[in-house]
Amino acid sequence: MSSPVTIGVDLGGTNMVGGLVSIDGAISHEISRPSPATHQAMLEGPFMLVGELLTPDVEAIGLGVAGLIDGSGRLAWGPNIAGTDIAFRQLAEAAFGLPVIVDNDANFWAFGEGTFGAAAGYDHAIVVTLGTGIGGGIIAGGQVYRGKGFAGEFGHIVIDPDGDRCTCGNRGCWETFVSGRHLDTLAREIVRREPGGLVAVEAGGESPTGSHMLAPAVAGDRSAIDAYCGVGEALGRGLAMLAVVLDPQIIVIGGAVAAAGDLLLSPARQAFRERFEGATHRPIPSIVPSRLGANGGAIGAGLAAHRLVTET
Ligand SMILES: [Zn+2]
Repeated sequence: MSSPVTIGVDLGGTNMVGGLVSIDGAISHEISRPSPATHQAMLEGPFMLVGELLTPDVEAIGLGVAGLIDGSGRLAWGPNIAGTDIAFRQLAEAAFGLPVIVDNDANFWAFGEGTFGAAAGYDHAIVVTLGTGIGGGIIAGGQVYRGKGFAGEFGHIVIDPDGDRCTCGNRGCWETFVSGRHLDTLAREIVRREPGGLVAVEAGGESPTGSHMLAPAVAGDRSAIDAYCGVGEALGRGLAMLAVVLDPQIIVIGGAVAAAGDLLLSPARQAFRERFEGATHRPIPSIVPSRLGANGGAIGAGLAAHRLVTET
């Protein structure tokens, strides 16, 4: 008999990723699709993806969604996704007849990171996922901390009340300075300024996105490096604010944007040290990349589903 697996799905602002997750956190059969763009598609897309992954060995389903998920597994709302007020857990249990756990995608990422990733062995950690927006997970006393349900929405701390409009409706949220969407804007500005530059060449006539800056930055392109540097500094300043509140032992950075590695993390570490209260008188938490790889949210969802089975 083959070992039991779960299905882990991470429904983000841009893409939804699912796969089969084993009890030791390995993921296989990954499927990636664009995230549903309408409320109606949201009621169907994630379930179609689960249906494609379903095998007789699947024991449970974990669905992570980039939004506010209440204790009953219902999506209340998400600034970067379509659809509001969707009882995902109830719908998935009815559709598949399996145990289902639904949570915020960054909470699942934090759970996975604390189980097998960079935060394993730490009781107090912050996990920040940089995707379309910013996701946040708090590990406090060895558990994912949820407040009364929606804790960890770091991306929507207002940094500049006169700043750019955020998808949540406010102005100047942290994620308007530090996110995939902001890097896309910076890439477009660079291509407009330097139509013959490396970023424009990398975009190759497509609408420029942040990912088009990565290879040019590695190759030494000044504009691309400066863009990552500015975003990294804003990341570090925000992390210093979170750290004076939460006092973590370690800070883990995941999500697609984290693929930029030290291009982002080096300036973030420096800005963090400059802002962290009492930095010369206390241990400074390490700021490290995720160890779960690009699919950390789906892995965390799958691992949480395994735990659901063992607990029931
Ligand atoms: Zn916001």
